[in-house]
Amino acid sequence: MSITIAQDYSLRPFNTLAVAARAAHFCKVQSVLELQQVLAQNTDPLLILGGGSNLVLTGDFPGLVILNRIPGIEMLEQTADQVLIRVGAGEIWDHLVETCVARGWFGLENLSWIPGSVGAAPIQNIGAYGVELKDVVECVETLCLEDLLPRTFSARQCRFGYRDSVFKRSEQGRHIITHVQLRLSRQPSLHLDYGEIRRCAEQWGYDIAQLTPLDVRQIIIRIRSAKLPDPATAPNVGSFFKNPLVGAADFERIKADAPGVVAYPQADGTLKLAAGWLIDQLGWKGRRQGCARVHDRQALVLINEGSSSHDLLELAGNIQQAVLQRWGIELEIEPSVV
Ligand SMILES: Cc1cc2nc3c(=O)[nH]c(=O)nc-3n(C[C@H](O)[C@H](O)[C@H](O)COP(=O)(O)OP(=O)(O)OC[C@H]3O[C@@H](n4cnc5c(N)ncnc54)[C@H](O)[C@@H]3O)c2cc1C
Repeated sequence: MSITIAQDYSLRPFNTLAVAARAAHFCKVQSVLELQQVLAQNTDPLLILGGGSNLVLTGDFPGLVILNRIPGIEMLEQTADQVLIRVGAGEIWDHLVETCVARGWFGLENLSWIPGSVGAAPIQNIGAYGVELKDVVECVETLCLEDLLPRTFSARQCRFGYRDSVFKRSEQGRHIITHVQLRLSRQPSLHLDYGEIRRCAEQWGYDIAQLTPLDVRQIIIRIRSAKLPDPATAPNVGSFFKNPLVGAADFERIKADAPGVVAYPQADGTLKLAAGWLIDQLGWKGRRQGCARVHDRQALVLINEGSSSHDLLELAGNIQQAVLQRWGIELEIEPSVV
């Protein structure tokens, strides 16, 4: 089996910021074996791509870009209460959520409508509406780039945190995720108390006592579609900054200056501040800088209207500077900048 490697290939269709960067070499893989074959012959810098929805390309990529399309949703175990499934890293995340809800495997509903691939989901421990990937991960299977052999990381070894995992820290750039194993429940257990789920459900005429996981998925899709711009028409990567975590003393200091500050208490005693609220308070919502702008309804989302990411990153830097100057908080960029 030989994989076709294209040369000087446009990455524009493969990143949701629509940056018109090019890859020196480009290929698509659909199995672990193909991945091993391609990697065995490669000596160039490497970039692995899923949906390109959490990526800022700063220019042409001088090496090999591998589009991960390893497929498959496989049942490994089932009991009366649970299923253990193994999912190929190239599956589309929301297709997985849809499939699981339809089959009566619950736990992913609140993560509906997040763009991207299954393989990228553990990297930043995707999360939405009070649920994070870590809540359902059994283990993550990778191909180690040092010896091209498979490895398995238990959920504990993944060291998941808020938009964080070992794959963004000590193991960064050392693995390609090939499969993710998820333990899902066969009994619905709904999470309705985060964000606007309950309020919207009532407003849209749902009977809260009768809600099903499919209802929750549909409500979340409706909320997200109304709130978040579609990358197809307004190129973006979702939240551009992580919500900062601060200690109690810092929170009191910020609250004295901004009494309405939106904060979510965390299990470790820190408070997660709504970065979008902070940015909005400083008047950035809707502001434009060159070919980039802050979304006019969601200050955490930056829109790219250019063919490069230059203006976008400059805008992001100015926002970071403004928040730092006013409150001493360092906003961290959420997507990978390559
Ligand atoms: C409109 C919109 C809404 C969003 N909402 C949310 C949200 O609610 N919650 C949330 O957490 N995120 C959200 N995101 C961000 C994004 O969708 C997720 O982070 C998603 O998991 C990225 O998947 P991807 O396949 O597109 O990753 P890519 O952008 O393709 O890759 C991201 C990074 O992971 C690396 N990578 C990708 N696949 C692999 C692999 N198999 N092995 C090793 N490394 C890999 C890439 O090299 C890159 O560094 C949103 C994005 C958009 C555009």
